[in-house]
Amino acid sequence: MSRKGFHPESVSPGTRSVWAGEEEYLLQGSTQVPVVHSVSFGYENLEDWHEVALGKREGHIYSRITNPTVKVFEEKVRCLEGAEAAVSFATGMAAISASLFTFLSPGSRVVAIKDTYGGTNKLFLDFLPRFHVETVLCDTHDFAGIEAEMDQGCDLLYLETPTNPTLKVVDVERLSRAAHGQGGLVVVDNTFATPINQNPLNLGADLVIHSATKFLGGHADALGGIVCGPEELVRKVYHYREINGGTLHPMAAYLLLRGMKTLHLRVRQQNESALTIARWLESQPQVDRVYYPGLESHPHYETARKQMRGFGGVLSFSLEGGFDAVRSFLPHLRLAHLAANLGSVETVAGPPRTTSHVECTEEERRAMGIPEGLIRYSVGIEETEDLLADLKQALDRLPRRTGVSSGK
Ligand SMILES: *Cc1c(COP(=O)(O)O)cnc(C)c1O
Repeated sequence: MSRKGFHPESVSPGTRSVWAGEEEYLLQGSTQVPVVHSVSFGYENLEDWHEVALGKREGHIYSRITNPTVKVFEEKVRCLEGAEAAVSFATGMAAISASLFTFLSPGSRVVAIKDTYGGTNKLFLDFLPRFHVETVLCDTHDFAGIEAEMDQGCDLLYLETPTNPTLKVVDVERLSRAAHGQGGLVVVDNTFATPINQNPLNLGADLVIHSATKFLGGHADALGGIVCGPEELVRKVYHYREINGGTLHPMAAYLLLRGMKTLHLRVRQQNESALTIARWLESQPQVDRVYYPGLESHPHYETARKQMRGFGGVLSFSLEGGFDAVRSFLPHLRLAHLAANLGSVETVAGPPRTTSHVECTEEERRAMGIPEGLIRYSVGIEETEDLLADLKQALDRLPRRTGVSSGK
């Protein structure tokens, strides 16, 4: 499948994000992937059409099923995750819900963590029970507890690491082994890490999911989702999408592809800035606690080092003074959108209270270990020193507390 003898597997991930998946789809010498805005694909004879429809020959029939631009996006992410196959979706949530509804049936038992993405959590609590699927949500940091829960039966283990918004890290290798011991399928949401920093399939996961809306696209201008894994499993998820219809739009696929050309450069910069900023924040008196897997103070720093090549572009920190402090601090940031997304080229900041966990009560957030003074800070690609200066000027406006010990 490769002109010039190019094999994506033989080059490093950064090079894959530039070149992988494209050449077969370039049109009349174009160097860029065309956006194929066609609902259907015509045939000159019925035999060819029939063979494509039966899957006996490569080709496209109808864009809910396959589309050339969308295919390139799937192929690029597939190469980055080192998977056999990939299938994309209109959003990350469509990818997650399709994966769950493909593999679960009445009576199935899901073991998951408490800290999954807000929408995913709603699937577990509000939607799956209606189909008589039992979901047990375990304390994210308690690996032995998750294993014990799986001993009671596990058809599907659902993980996310690092988690939103407190950047907890789960040991994918250890928990995958336990799930497989029960015959369970392991699904990992890799959105926060990106394939540049972490490849869950290499750690034992069966399926890896991304909200491409975040780091993969990287420019906050297109929604998308993707599921990668072995051909045999992905084929089933693909069939679900073919019928349920949560297909990625070709224009969105194009925007995501364009964003992915710089994935490795962005992520490298974001890893570096986030670590520098996290370390700096830890030493600031107005800051109560910093949550970032690259800090030695992180409870699962060793696990993070074992399974990640970089610690990602999202960090959180809590301010002394709770939500009142957050309310006065955030509007002073000049180099951050106050918004709900993350993983973009611009820095984005927001409190879980109005973003990821808006639907929870204060009690529920406390039970999840989310302090009211927490701020999620998704580092963009700005120069690190400018972000540090911006954070400093905003922190300096907060009243300094004297004689208050946070037990840090
Ligand atoms: C944003 C996000 C999702 C949902 O993705 P959408 O594209 O918004 O549907 C799922 N998981 C994580 C970790 C996310 O950050």
